Order: sequence, then C-alpha cells, then structure tokens
Amino acid sequence: MKFNKTKGTIRFYEELNFFIKGHALKEDIEFSYYGKRSVKDLIESYGIPHVEVDMILVNGESVSFDHIVKAGDHISVYPMFERFNIEGLTKIRDHGLRDSKFVADVHLGKLVKKLRLLGFDILYDSTWDDVELADIAMNESRILLTRDRRLLMRTIIDRGLIIRSTNIEKQVIEVLERLDLYNEINPFSRCLMCNGTLLDVHEEDETYQELFIQLPAKVKIWCREIFICEKCHKIYWKGSHYEKMLKYIDELLI
Ligand SMILES: [Zn+2]
Repeated sequence: MKFNKTKGTIRFYEELNFFIKGHALKEDIEFSYYGKRSVKDLIESYGIPHVEVDMILVNGESVSFDHIVKAGDHISVYPMFERFNIEGLTKIRDHGLRDSKFVADVHLGKLVKKLRLLGFDILYDSTWDDVELADIAMNESRILLTRDRRLLMRTIIDRGLIIRSTNIEKQVIEVLERLDLYNEINPFSRCLMCNGTLLDVHEEDETYQELFIQLPAKVKIWCREIFICEKCHKIYWKGSHYEKMLKYIDELLI
C-alpha cells in the first residue's frame, strides 16, 4: 500500500508566533507528513495550544479544529483576542472568552491575589494537579490561566490563557489586555483568601456592631464601613492598603 505525503503551508498570525521555535516567524511554513491529521493536531505540533487559536482559514474558508488537512492546503491560523472583527467567519467557538471566571495553575498564586483584589472570580489551590485543573475549567466554564502550554493542549479545555510574563505586574496587565477586562474591574468585591464574595456592611446594618468589636482599636476610631467574606467570614476594612490599591488601579487604567 502506498501512502502519499500531505504537503501544504501553514502561517501563524500575530502573537501565535510567540510559541514557534525554529521556524521563520510570520511566514508560510511548509509542512509535509504521512498519514491523516486534523488541523488541530497540525497546529499543536508547532507547540501552539488550541485554546490560543480563534480562527483557522483553509484556502480562505473558515474551518473547525477537526478539519482533516488535505494536500495543497494553505492554512492561516489567527490568535484569540485579535482586535479585528472576525464575527460571522469563525466556526470554532460560538461564545467569546470574555466571561471572566478563572481557575489558575498552582504557580500563579501571586497573580491570583492581584486579580481577586481587582474583583475577579478566580479559583486557586496550590495542591491541584493538571487533571483537577482541567476538570474545573471544563465543568465550571472557567478560563484556565497557566504558564504551562502543555496543560492547555488537553482536549477538554477550550478556554485558556498562557501567561507569558514572569513579572507579576506585567502578568496582571497581560490578563486585562488580552481578555479586554478593564471594564470589569470591581475592587473590594472579593475575598483575597478564599475567592468568596465580600458583603458591604454599614453602620446602620444589624450585623455591624458584631463585626465592629472585632476590629483593631486603631481602626475603630475612623472605620464606618466593614466588608465581610460571605464564605470564610474574614473581615476587611478600607485601611491604608485600600488607598494603595486605589492608586494601583489608577495606574493600571492610565
Ligand atoms: Zn473568604
């Protein structure tokens, strides 16, 4: 039995080039192999997790990941979060990624705190393994944040983001920019420790006194508004860290 080689070209656009090692960037790459491959497998063979891909054009037509590559195919692969309008063309996802609920990989603990500080719903547990992370992402429709692109290649994950920077401030900006989340910042709405929602308790509220007596003496002097985590019951107040946080958010939004 004679097998024919499948030959064609593939080109990766914009930030997808970040992943490619050993190939000329932003140019057609020739591929050639024996056997049958889906376009998803071909794309991932270049080290690009499928969750980073928003649209694939084969000879100018939008196709889904299970498209079987044919000899002579010219394939163009576009990244998630490109700003140009591809609505109506894409067949890969019928919903955007910007439903901002997250689960974070175990090495992103600092980023998790920063994102919770900005009010984002982000699950995290330093003991979770890859299988647990993938299951949570899938079952709860959460965007998986990770620095490990092999993790995002798991088939069951269709929403994920590779964090490229190792610098915590840059990581925050990466998430906000790539998912276009600036409008969703909602400080003082989420517990930094457990991700629970913070309830805002004012002086006139019934439970206020009960919480007030737990505050440090110095804080009692000026504090008239307390926040309590509805899940772990940790108490927050707008102290000096709050001022710092507002300054931080201001800087992010510049
Ligand atoms: Zn909590």
